[in-house]
Amino acid sequence: MKNDYKLNTIVEMKKQHPCGSKNFEIIRLGADIKIKCVQCGRIIMLPRIEFNKKIKKIVTY
Ligand SMILES: [Zn+2]
Repeated sequence: MKNDYKLNTIVEMKKQHPCGSKNFEIIRLGADIKIKCVQCGRIIMLPRIEFNKKIKKIVTY
């Protein structure tokens, strides 16, 4: 998996959010990555290493 994500990229995670969606939008990039659930709007912050393990694929750039 490449590491060059951009802001507003929609990504699919391996594990779905409690609301049932697997798609998240990247809203902050740094040592930590913030993603927002596209369905319910909840924001999750993950260390980049953890994010790289949990991402399944990039949906859109
Ligand atoms: Zn959600």
